[in-house]
Parts: sequence; structure tokens; C-alpha cells
Amino acid sequence: GNEEAAAKAAAKIADTGAPTIFDKIIAKEIPSTIVYEDDKVLAFQDVNPQAPVHILVIPKMRDGLTQLGKAEPRHAEVLGHLLFAAKLVAEKEGIVDGFRVVINNGPEACQSVYHLHLHVLGGRQLKWPPG
Ligand code: 5GP
Repeated sequence: GNEEAAAKAAAKIADTGAPTIFDKIIAKEIPSTIVYEDDKVLAFQDVNPQAPVHILVIPKMRDGLTQLGKAEPRHAEVLGHLLFAAKLVAEKEGIVDGFRVVINNGPEACQSVYHLHLHVLGGRQLKWPPG
């Protein structure tokens, strides 16, 4: 079906290290609905939401973090900051009955944008296991 085709298409996208659409979102060259921002991270609504609340949390400086699997010891601080920002976003969005934080890493996980991002999902009963 459509979902399977989309997953296959996404799975073909590889980590080339090229700039991504998120650079333009950070630069505010393309619009997004920002829900949280500080000096290190930006959180904005996903353009194709998979739940009533679907926010992406990204580092403003990619600094080699195209995907979690590329993380090095120097990234530990920003990784912690991103996870804490995800908690602030969940609070702000009022998804107090439960929320999920997801990182798709690499082709087999259907990563499609190679600038590290946390998905914060909630606002409905989520299923487990995920697809
Ligand atoms: P991934 O598949 O890499 O884990 O997630 C990338 C996410 O970025 C997808 O959920 C997709 O909907 C979202 N996305 C892609 N392009 C844009 C965009 O231009 N604006 C926003 N707000 N989200 C985007």
C-alpha cells in the first residue's frame, strides 16, 4: 500500500552529509511552527504529523550529527539537551497522559532527513510495537 511505498522510498535516502531542509528551517528561510527554541535547539511541528501532536526537536548546529549513529563524545551535552527539550515540548503541548520520543537512524529505520532530530509524538493512544 501507500505506507509501504513511502517506507521504501524513505529507506533509499542515504547520509551524504549534504545540507538539509532543516538548515532552512533554522535560518527561518522556510516557515515552520516553532513550539520551543533556545540557543542550542529548535522544536517545530512536523509538516506531516503522525499523531495529534508531532514535534521535531533538532540541534541548531548539526556539527556532524547527521544521525545518532554518528554521535561522538563531544556530542554528549547536546544529546542530553535535546532529550530535555523533548520533555519541555511534551509539557508545553500538554501531552501529560503519555508521549513517545523517536529517533529514526539510517535507511532501515526510514530516516529521511540527515540532520539529527527527535520526534515527540502524542495526543492519542500510541501502539506498540511500532512499525
Ligand atoms: P525522519 O523520517 O528522517 O525520521 O523524519 C523526518 C521528518 O521531517 C518527517 O516526519 C517529515 O514529515 C519532516 N519534514 C520533512 N520536511 C519538512 C519540512 O520542510 N518542514 C517540517 N516542518 N517538517 C518536515
